[in-house]
Amino acid sequence: MYRFGQAEVDAVAELATSQRLWRHMAGSKSSQFEHAFADRIGVDHALVMTSGTAALICGLVAVGVAPGDEVLLPAYTFVATAFAVMAIGATPVLVEVDESLTIDPEDLSSKITDRSRAVIPVHINGLPCAMDAIVDICRDRHLAIVEDACQAVGGTYRGVPLGSIGDCGAFSFNYYKTISCGEGGCLTTGSAHLYERARIYHDAGCAFFSPDQAVRTEYFAGANYRMSEILSAVLMVQLGRLDGILSDLRERKRIVLHRLESVDSVRPAPVRDADGDCGVKSAFLLESTDAARDATRRINEARLCVTAECPLDTSRHVYVNWEAVLSGRSPLSSAIPGRQYAADACPRTLDHLGRTLNLIVHPDTDLRDLDRALATVRGML
Ligand SMILES: *Cc1c(COP(=O)(O)O)cnc(C)c1O
Repeated sequence: MYRFGQAEVDAVAELATSQRLWRHMAGSKSSQFEHAFADRIGVDHALVMTSGTAALICGLVAVGVAPGDEVLLPAYTFVATAFAVMAIGATPVLVEVDESLTIDPEDLSSKITDRSRAVIPVHINGLPCAMDAIVDICRDRHLAIVEDACQAVGGTYRGVPLGSIGDCGAFSFNYYKTISCGEGGCLTTGSAHLYERARIYHDAGCAFFSPDQAVRTEYFAGANYRMSEILSAVLMVQLGRLDGILSDLRERKRIVLHRLESVDSVRPAPVRDADGDCGVKSAFLLESTDAARDATRRINEARLCVTAECPLDTSRHVYVNWEAVLSGRSPLSSAIPGRQYAADACPRTLDHLGRTLNLIVHPDTDLRDLDRALATVRGML
């Protein structure tokens, strides 16, 4: 969450006094947000719900992933990506990331089996995945694509919005994301059929469709991830802030890259589409994990407006720390035992994560402060 203020307070106050707190009322905040968000992402359908994890689960259910199926995902992502797969009794298959820290298409190809059903490319840190290669592979091997765009609202790949390229896209609006309502998520899709399946599943298997929306999909049992109108009212305001946040983030990121690209001991990490990047972190590759950890420590000790992280040390984003995934423990384990993994299952991922230094700048950072901080950082590299 970067920007939050009186406009959000006013939106909640107005909604509370109207007492229109059911999302299926005509003209609800949730449906207003869905129309606006679908427009922004360039898809026909958006379904707002309680979290990004819920959006991933509904996307997987929508494309037909069933217990026992395999779903391929990167070994570097927030652990919820893997848990969404396990929540419906499917098996996460860990795929290496390359130096861009997004899923490696070659390793993805090599890990497809007869049981593979879907792929979750994760646009981690707002960095677009190699979607052309991924779409080609999935088309050839008849796999569905559910994009995890939880950290990538407003990003693009070759000019096309992230979350609109695969069969479905999943977004998160939790506290840590670019726009936020505290907790929330949204599923996007171009397919009316996938939308109906997700809508039925997310809405207690009932799907309170309005009378003018004919449903062609058979109802089936679901969960309840229905969105709160209060949160949707906040999201409507937040969506209006998105372009301002992104342009301030991108301006600062360009400065970081420009000021540090000539430093000999570091090189900017490759990005699959730099124009579409919408993240807050600028990634550089160093000689070794020791060098990346040492730089991280020194930059953070200097207490600058730029902070640093070595992604190998970001706990629940690195597969070696996903104990439940590595040992296949899920609520469904007694019926469907999960796959076991050794901690060295994806060695190249650990190597790339260890040599990466991420520099993080808030979009509201003063540009002169940023210049001064970067001069200090240059001296430390
Ligand atoms: C935040 C996040 C999620 C989960 O979103 P929630 O809204 O917290 O459920 C999933 N995947 C990635 C990559 C995320 O960053």
